[in-house]
Amino acid sequence: MSVRAGMAAFKGKRRKPLEAIRAFCVACQGGAYEAVAGCALSSCPLRPYRGSAVPADGETAVPAIRAYCVEHCLPGQPDEVTTCQAFSQAGPNPPCPLWPFRLGADPYSRQTTTEGSRERQLTLLPCAPSPLSTDESSS
Ligand code: SF4
Ligand code: SF4
Repeated sequence: MSVRAGMAAFKGKRRKPLEAIRAFCVACQGGAYEAVAGCALSSCPLRPYRGSAVPADGETAVPAIRAYCVEHCLPGQPDEVTTCQAFSQAGPNPPCPLWPFRLGADPYSRQTTTEGSRERQLTLLPCAPSPLSTDESSS
């Protein structure tokens, strides 16, 4: 599945990876912002990214989200992560802020969108005439 596939279905707020982690952590702690800072679960892949004092750039946050999905949310079920339905409101549960990044890439990044448009352009390119297909009717 491509990184951007299904993004039209996502009903959550558009966020950067670190913002998504922050929102997820706040929800994890029942809305208690101060509890996020005090989270002591060192095994959680998101923990280094939960606060405003981020120890690394956003690039490494996306793999951490992927790790969270496949190791903690749906352990050992990577296919279930791919088809995760948490892209929209489900009963009392809002869309999961991590959903856009669950495949381990950022669908909003310039690189991803450039690759996507390049793929589309290649798809739209007309077939070049084959050098072997000469117009015999003109000879
Ligand atoms: S780091 Fe993990 S355990 Fe801690 S608040 Fe965030 S999601 Fe919850
Ligand atoms: S995106 Fe899906 S698999 Fe990942 S944390 Fe959210 S609900 Fe779980």
